[in-house]
Amino acid sequence: MNGSLSRRTFLAGLTAAPALNVLDLFAQQAAKSNFLKEIDARYYKHLDHKQTQCLVCPLNCILQPGQTCFCRTRRNHDGTLLSHAYNNPCTLSIDPIEKLPLAHFLPGESTLSLAVGGCNLRCLYCQNWQQSQVKPEELKTFDLPREKAVEGAAKKEVRILAYTYTEPVAFYEYARDVSVLAKEKGLKNVVATALFINPDPLRELCKTTDAFAVALKGFDEKFYEKVLGSDLKPVLRGLEVIREEKTWLEIVTLVVPGYNDDLAKIKEMTGWIAKNLGTKVPLHFGRFVPEYRLKDLPRTPVETLEKCRQIALDAGLEHVLIFNVSPHEGNNTRCARCKKEVIQRLGFKTIESHHTKGVCDYCKTRLPGVWEWK
Ligand code: SF4
Repeated sequence: MNGSLSRRTFLAGLTAAPALNVLDLFAQQAAKSNFLKEIDARYYKHLDHKQTQCLVCPLNCILQPGQTCFCRTRRNHDGTLLSHAYNNPCTLSIDPIEKLPLAHFLPGESTLSLAVGGCNLRCLYCQNWQQSQVKPEELKTFDLPREKAVEGAAKKEVRILAYTYTEPVAFYEYARDVSVLAKEKGLKNVVATALFINPDPLRELCKTTDAFAVALKGFDEKFYEKVLGSDLKPVLRGLEVIREEKTWLEIVTLVVPGYNDDLAKIKEMTGWIAKNLGTKVPLHFGRFVPEYRLKDLPRTPVETLEKCRQIALDAGLEHVLIFNVSPHEGNNTRCARCKKEVIQRLGFKTIESHHTKGVCDYCKTRLPGVWEWK
């Protein structure tokens, strides 16, 4: 992979007209079955006059009968809240786990990645807006009940399901049900999310999630409100919940020129991570590619990413990586003790490994993360 690559660029060949034959196989199999494309929503309550209130994310949408929610995936049907993001992924691909990005979780494994249309954020620079900013039923989709997803992954010798590309909080019910079955069958689950979710549904998701890649998009309430249409505090609380639940966590920050590249804020953010989540949480700084409503901005200068990385290292974080720029020394993992490169990567691809099951070959220090299948 040369230079930077937006998620959208990668997905261009895989969403509407999948390029890989394996994806056709999933669709053909599933089309033979009867499957639901709507299901009772989880985490909601009934209010007076057939109103419903969703409790999945901090927006806590109250809907009148007939209304669709902010994330576009749930609708009040005569007093019952239904999710329409069920069994209908718009994206289905087999990816390296490093693409989530996860650098310290079973490197070299592949994921079967699923995404359903809809999102509970409104990021002006969304890298996947064609899928995230519409209703699930407005997209060309695969017919994929959970049994087919899990069987299909196993058939292709893929041992990890990934809920990614759009926002799994918006397709919570489907992600949760697929992940429960995947877990029962001995597979693992990983989730890429902006983590704008309430603590109870998050704790439930942690039960079947083996690793999270969380987009902490900045460290400024105004940026969260104006550019993302969201709120920072629940995201920080969510990170603490994941830490409390002891699920493996990596953090991802796409650095947008002029929006979230204030180095004082980066210092604040990395200090908060070190203090509240510990210094062993890997942090990935990513290069912004002009997209959606911020098309006029330049790409993030590499020097800015390098400065962010240095600030994070100065804050005590042991593993700080750079993505969307390749080749770059920041793609590699260094041992926190002897500082030697233990994983050399070109973009998401591992070129050389110098560790044995997560133990540095040079100084025998254990790297944080999950390195063995258990
Ligand atoms: S998850 Fe969707 S329906 Fe539920 S509160 Fe959030 S935006 Fe509203």
